[in-house]
Amino acid sequence: MSRYCEKSAALMYSYLDQEMTVIRRIRIRMHLHRCPPCADGFHFETRLKDRIRTGCHDEPPAELYDRLRTFLQQHGASGESR
Ligand SMILES: [Zn+2]
Repeated sequence: MSRYCEKSAALMYSYLDQEMTVIRRIRIRMHLHRCPPCADGFHFETRLKDRIRTGCHDEPPAELYDRLRTFLQQHGASGESR
């Protein structure tokens, strides 16, 4: 787990919201390729967001943030990065 994990997890929000520059998106993608835990969380969020965007409201957006919060706790808050 690298220090970039925290960063990329936090950046998922903006990535999913398409508010990100091309370079930043590429850097995140590169990290996801090397870091399965991040990739897992990210792909889940992408799919969920996709479903929300296409108009299917089976799963409320609240779950997205719930999952992401859990992911951030497991992945970024361990304090091992320093
Ligand atoms: Zn990572």
